[in-house]
Amino acid sequence: MLEGKVAIVTGSTSGIGLGIAECLAEQGADIVLNGFGDPAEIDRLRSSLAERHRVRAIHSGADMGRPEQIVGLVEQATAELGRVDVLVNNAGIQHTAPVHEFPDERWELILKINLSAAFYATKAVLPQMLERNWGRIINIASAHGLVASGHKSAYVAAKHGLVGLTKVVALETARTGVTCNAICPGWVLTPLVQKQIDERAAREGIPVEQARLELLGEKQPSLEFVTPEQLGGLALFLCSPAADQIRGQAYAMDGGWTAQ
Ligand code: NAD
Repeated sequence: MLEGKVAIVTGSTSGIGLGIAECLAEQGADIVLNGFGDPAEIDRLRSSLAERHRVRAIHSGADMGRPEQIVGLVEQATAELGRVDVLVNNAGIQHTAPVHEFPDERWELILKINLSAAFYATKAVLPQMLERNWGRIINIASAHGLVASGHKSAYVAAKHGLVGLTKVVALETARTGVTCNAICPGWVLTPLVQKQIDERAAREGIPVEQARLELLGEKQPSLEFVTPEQLGGLALFLCSPAADQIRGQAYAMDGGWTAQ
């Protein structure tokens, strides 16, 4: 389905981004991986993706907190792979603390990486997508883009903002072949969530497995984690012709979290 197309997935050296990159590569898209980590491990991920799916795959270490590096990422993708057809704005970080104790620099960084990065990347890829009259912009928001939880002021504000940005980009591109939508995952067992489970276990003095079940039980009625592969499946659907008229939507895949 995506043969001949090029996809950038930000924050794809781990977790959800990597799962989405796998799904897009499986359908033939050339991939730009982005994110931090051990260079040897990243290169292993990159070459394995390329070999298994017979696509081209490159890595950019661009920091999504730095606008000039985001523009550089799009320039690198276009120079090395020829074009950008799919942009998945996925890179994101978390920090939990009550508002009155929330560190200023964490607030700023979360807003930069989880929200502003999507603006800068969208701005950088849109001209070429509009020129070819085809493109898919998929923003990985969160259940926290639709509802709130305590101790997550910056994250919830950024993700609600990202859902808002999604709607505006969708309206501005409504008469073109470019679509923009958001995906709102519930709990997915990635390093970002494992950190919250470990913190809960330490705070409450309980085993990690119990902390994991408590975390799910609090929010996610299915009591099962969403998987990166399932999110990749939804991203693929949004890239398909069936989704041509899906515009400005925020799709929850959250085990029932936001149905409550
Ligand atoms: P993760 O920690 O497993 O992966 C985050 C990725 O982003 C990594 O590749 C990391 O290197 C990269 N990254 C971090 N800071 C970066 C920066 N400044 N520049 C470039 N790359 C950077 O996290 P995840 O759970 O896979 O989360 C991915 C996205 O999904 C995030 O936007 C997160 O908010 C969202 N999300 C996650 C969950 C969940 O339960 N895990 C739920 C809802 C939404």
